[in-house]
Amino acid sequence: MKESASAKEIESVEKLLAEFGFQTHPIQGEKKTVIGAIGDKRLLSMNQILTMDGVENVVPIMKPYKLASKELHKEPSVIEIGHGITVGGKQLAVFAGPCAIESQEQFTTVSKAVKASGANILRGGAFKPRSSPYSFQGLGKEGIDLLIQARKITGLPIVTEIMDLSDLDCFADVDVVQVGARNMQNFTLLKALGRSDKPVLLKRGLSSTLQELLMSAEYIMSEGNQNVILCERGIRTFEPATRNTLDLSAVPLLQQKTHLPITVDPSHATGIASLVEPMALCAVTAGCDALEIEVHNDPKNAWSDGAQSLTPAQFAETMKKVKALSEFMGKPLDVNE
Ligand code: PEP
Ligand code: MN
Repeated sequence: MKESASAKEIESVEKLLAEFGFQTHPIQGEKKTVIGAIGDKRLLSMNQILTMDGVENVVPIMKPYKLASKELHKEPSVIEIGHGITVGGKQLAVFAGPCAIESQEQFTTVSKAVKASGANILRGGAFKPRSSPYSFQGLGKEGIDLLIQARKITGLPIVTEIMDLSDLDCFADVDVVQVGARNMQNFTLLKALGRSDKPVLLKRGLSSTLQELLMSAEYIMSEGNQNVILCERGIRTFEPATRNTLDLSAVPLLQQKTHLPITVDPSHATGIASLVEPMALCAVTAGCDALEIEVHNDPKNAWSDGAQSLTPAQFAETMKKVKALSEFMGKPLDVNE
């Protein structure tokens, strides 16, 4: 729509598109509104739309993902997390915390430590997807209560993973819902998360292409929720020396294709604590919008993912470098006060 388009003109265009059988998604930019319209374009009279008051242009989007596509939304999306924190745009965010929440003491200790080092968002697994059914499966609802408690203590927003739709009620008071790599194509879950407006951190599947990742984002967005944050967390390759292979070219490539913010998780990508800092710095250099890093007060005795977890002291050192580099890159680390 033109900059000068009135609310009434926008509404009339949406109404006509609906009559042609299109689903509409108005996107309000700083200056203009763009109406995303999903439907069969053969049923649409382009001319009729083009000649309506307030219409600037009609652009067909050929990509299979449309709402996630940069063609529809040129400016990078900035997602409000709450507590004054945003992901995307001009600042870098850091999600940090243990792989799994083990106890109140453990989580409070790590939460305070990561906040002191400059992390903006607390992470901690309550429902854990483990390769073995005999491994610790997470504290479940009790873990979510501990996250909420840690948010009260630190003032930082919280992110945690949902594994099953039947647990959705437990996530009502969580700031960001994480969809893990193993659930990237759980379309029922994605659609349900799309029906709220809670930010979703969507991790790339173990062997998913970038197009599949974007199509999964589209599942969430097509239900109405535009608050999707993508996460590159390494993919399965033939190389066994690292847990996964970090696909860093995904960052600039995704930025060419989508307006959605992009997070990099160097912890799951490498599986090795000593590789987390160098890969985190490379991710910042590649232009990521956020990092997700696992930190544990006692990695040797962690109940999950100890080998890839940084100690609070290592995390503090890494954050000093991340902070300096992010300033140099022109996307400084967001404050966490
Ligand atoms: C996690 O972040 O705790 C996790 C399980 O990650 P992923 O889904 O990327 O394996
Ligand atoms: Mn983990």
